[in-house]
Order: sequence, then C-alpha cells, then structure tokens
Amino acid sequence: MPLALALVVMVSSGVTAFSLVSVKDEIQIGEAAQKEVRAKTPELTDKAVTSYIRSLGRRLVAHAEGPEYPYSFSVANYRDINAFALPGGPVWVNRGAIQAAQNEAQLAGVMGHEIAHVANRHSAEQLTKGMGAQLGLGVLGALLGGDRSLGAQAARLGAQIGASAGMMKFSRDHEREADEKGMTYMSRAGYDVRGMAEFMEILREQQGRDPSSVERFFASHPAPAERITRLEREAARLKQGGRRDSPDFQSVKRRLARLPPAKPMPKG
Ligand SMILES: [Zn+2]
Repeated sequence: MPLALALVVMVSSGVTAFSLVSVKDEIQIGEAAQKEVRAKTPELTDKAVTSYIRSLGRRLVAHAEGPEYPYSFSVANYRDINAFALPGGPVWVNRGAIQAAQNEAQLAGVMGHEIAHVANRHSAEQLTKGMGAQLGLGVLGALLGGDRSLGAQAARLGAQIGASAGMMKFSRDHEREADEKGMTYMSRAGYDVRGMAEFMEILREQQGRDPSSVERFFASHPAPAERITRLEREAARLKQGGRRDSPDFQSVKRRLARLPPAKPMPKG
C-alpha cells in the first residue's frame, strides 16, 4: 500500500492519535490564524496586565512537554469569560476570565488548560482528522508530497481557524487531557491544583447569574458539572498545597477594575 493511502486508512479508522501536520506546518497555520484573530479582536494593551499574563503563561509553559512552540499570550478586551488556544502557540485570555478569577491559581488553571491543548498538539490531530474526513486525498497528497510545506493552504486553514476562534471545539478526550496536563503544569509550577476546579465553580455560578457571559465558553468546553467532579478527583491525586495567589495578580485585578468596562463578545 502506498504510504499516503496507508495513512489515510489509519486516519479514517481513527486508530491512533497521530498527526500528518508537522510542527512547522502547525506553527504556520497558527500564525495565519493569529493574524485573523488580531484583526477582529479588541486587544487589551495595558502593559502591566499584558506583561503579567505573559509571565504567568511562561511560568506554566516552562513545565509543559512537547515541541518548543513559539507561545504567545494575549488579552482580549471582552467581558465574557473565555480563553482559547490557536495551533502552534498563540493563547488568548479574555479580560472577563481574569476578572472572574479570585486568585492566581484559578487563572493558572485556565491558562494551563489552553497551554496543554497546544503542547499536546490537539489542533494538529483535529486538522488531521478534518483532512481525512472532509478534505480528502487532494490535501493529504499535497501535504505528503514535496517539501511538506503547506504554503497557501496553511494561510487558508489558518484564516478559517482564526475566523471561528473562541468557538473551536476539541474532542472530549482532548478536553480531558488538557485538564489533566494543565493541572500537571500547575502543580510543577508550584500552584494549588484545586484552582482549576474552583474556576469551573465560578463559571457554573456565573451561568446562573448571567448566562450570556459564559455562552461562548460552554459552546467549546464540556459541561462544568461533570468536569468539576473529575477535576476534584484528579486534584486529590496530585501534590497538595501550593501557591494560591500573588500580590501581582491582585494588583492586576485592581487595575482592570479601574479601566473602562470591557464590551461583550459579538454574537454569531
Ligand atoms: Zn479546552
């Protein structure tokens, strides 16, 4: 069986979690997606806030496995609670998520989860599945042939991903893995891993109070109830204790509270 055909068979039967998208391709797709997201997202540029988010992100990334992706951390000036990751490194956190968190460990939980999607190449697996299922042999052929550079296709795929960013849906297995790995990074970075489950509790309360502000989050993540039970069980298995908060986090919260209020995310 020719190599291309063998791979297609493996993809369509879903035997293994592997990817036809190279790390280089993934980064290229992510760059195109990031360009698209940047163009349509009101980015919070307040230096104190952005450098805080970057350093928290870097602290977690230092404990992540996988390829050395060019991670970046940006804050969307939206009031909704949401966060998402693009292929190959870019991570976005909504201002609403920072403001909803009560301590740094909870925010580290949100960011650890997104970093885990990147580090474990979930987008590459999704893209591989999508290519096998929808795009067919043409794209696979192009991917497997020549120098394996996606070129124009990377730009197109990236733009598509960027256009629907924040609504990207990973599989349940990917979500579970992102929770587990995210908690591991938190633990290694010295945080109290219970922060992740606590943040889910905040989301659940918020859903009762103001459903529209968490609509986007729940469109792309599993229901909080089952997630909380699982997160608590897993947290009990990891090292207990750890850092819960920092003066920097609280100062960022105070700073955000003084800025003009953020807008809701556009619907649709
Ligand atoms: Zn997720």
